Amino acid sequence: MILFKTIAALRSHLERQRKKGRTIGFVPTMGALHSGHGSLISHSLEQGHFTVVSIYVNPTQFNDPADLEKYPRPVSADLELLSRMGCDLVFLPGDSEIYPVEGVTTPEIDLQHLGESLEAAFRPGHFEGVLQVMHRLLDIVQPDFLFMGQKDLQQLAVIRQLILEAAFTTRLVGLPIVREENGLARSSRNERLSVSERERAGLIYKILRDTHKEFGKRSLSQLKASALQSLEQAGFRPEYFEFVRSDNLQLVHSREEYDGPITIVTAVWVGDVRLIDNMEM
Ligand code: AMP
Repeated sequence: MILFKTIAALRSHLERQRKKGRTIGFVPTMGALHSGHGSLISHSLEQGHFTVVSIYVNPTQFNDPADLEKYPRPVSADLELLSRMGCDLVFLPGDSEIYPVEGVTTPEIDLQHLGESLEAAFRPGHFEGVLQVMHRLLDIVQPDFLFMGQKDLQQLAVIRQLILEAAFTTRLVGLPIVREENGLARSSRNERLSVSERERAGLIYKILRDTHKEFGKRSLSQLKASALQSLEQAGFRPEYFEFVRSDNLQLVHSREEYDGPITIVTAVWVGDVRLIDNMEM
């Protein structure tokens, strides 16, 4: 495994790989790696791509400075894991590499409802930061394939729009959520939960599953009220629990309004940690 911190070194190495006929698979991360990231990396490796993982905690996508400060950064453990997995290349840029003082612009991407609802509503400026860093990283790496997790479902849709509008030739592959034993979606932020919070947070998955079981038997508003009540009774603070169209993540309030495939998306505070999850019905 090779480690690069500069764009110049990374680019010339990737150029050599392309000349040898290798396709480039890219997994962008903010580090504190777990098996959710591992699944994306394994997919890229199994498909035979020269696999590039970036680790960069992007400051511009954090709407909450305390969240940025508390974000875990176990770099040496991450590098050890990547090396064990057989990752080909790690890109570990500093802020000045990603955001030099001048000369980097991000195109305007029309996110429509994706820029206003759900994560965008509760984390103002978040997707602007995500677009900024992902535009920069895609421009630097120019991957053939980009692997991202369905845990961040709205982010996946935002990046799909970026690839389309900025005319990148990269193909985006969205992969299923990897969960802990109790069903909690794996996340770098889970490290900040206490042992008992982490155990209890499995309830978010249970509530998604219960809603799935009841889906079609009760109205969407009844299902939503009952899920919110269960989350609150557990001592969590739900920010949203919404039904959306699976194809474009537009909010759906009733089955009369839309009777195609539906996904539930939710964001919940457990203590001072904000967790997100989703499940297709
Ligand atoms: P992050 O390091 O949190 O920015 O995540 C990097 C990538 O890993 C994103 O594409 C995430 O969607 C993906 N990811 C994070 N957690 C999971 C998970 N539990 N299952 C699948 N993918 C995940």
